[in-house]
Amino acid sequence: MTFHATVLTLYPEMFPGPLGVSLAGRAREEGKWALDCVQIRDFAIDRHRTVDDTPAGGGAGMVLRVDVLAAAVDHARGVNREAPVIAMTPRGKPLTQARVRELAAGPGVIILCGRFEGFDERIFPGRDVEEVSVGDIVLSGGEPAAIMLLDACIRLLPGVMGAASSGAEESFEQGLLEYPHYTRPQEWEGRTIPEVLRSGDHAKIAAWRKSQSEIDTRSRRPDLWERHEDARVQPASGARRKKKDMDQ
Ligand code: SAH
Repeated sequence: MTFHATVLTLYPEMFPGPLGVSLAGRAREEGKWALDCVQIRDFAIDRHRTVDDTPAGGGAGMVLRVDVLAAAVDHARGVNREAPVIAMTPRGKPLTQARVRELAAGPGVIILCGRFEGFDERIFPGRDVEEVSVGDIVLSGGEPAAIMLLDACIRLLPGVMGAASSGAEESFEQGLLEYPHYTRPQEWEGRTIPEVLRSGDHAKIAAWRKSQSEIDTRSRRPDLWERHEDARVQPASGARRKKKDMDQ
């Protein structure tokens, strides 16, 4: 099955961009995923092809019109029938590897890229659109965020990464950051590779990696660590865990 991505944007020339090279580019050539870009402006209803208007209540900037967005989303749903519709916005739910895995296992995704001040809020309930953020930063447009989301999904598609890496040990997959990596040379500017990694003792290496992953998660990402600890103390079906999930 081909993962079908439809991107709604005012700048279709930004695609495939980075998704046209390396892993994602090859996977697209092999038909593992398909991309179509839709120009939002094609759904404007006036002769000036206007897509935005001034914010209700006043203030700076311009807002994408709900009627134009809805027509573009309806068109995309006609082409990419089963896929969920996701709008990229800093007001959305932070993107997680778990959500990426769900999306990658599905039929594809329709992504709405914002510009200017963003979207008329009514598009979200009006067209059942999920709001997703790629971090606590503000981009000038949703396109780089869409590329991030697609890149994360594409590398998980069957046959894309190859047998070398299942991705199962990667950061976030176990709720932790991954352990640090090293490669030759053994000594560089006086810094050496941890001795255990050269021991050839696979059990010892696995134990070291697990402990490094825990130490680093604890110090760098106390938020992840807390969630990880909660899940350990309280099995997945526990009431406390359910409440935590709802809080997210
Ligand atoms: N006024 C908005 C920001 C608009 S930025 C606010 O303060 O919330 C313009 C567009 O860039 C947005 O509509 C969105 O599509 C995209 N964008 C910016 N930051 C983003 C982020 N962190 N995650 C996802 N999309 C983002």
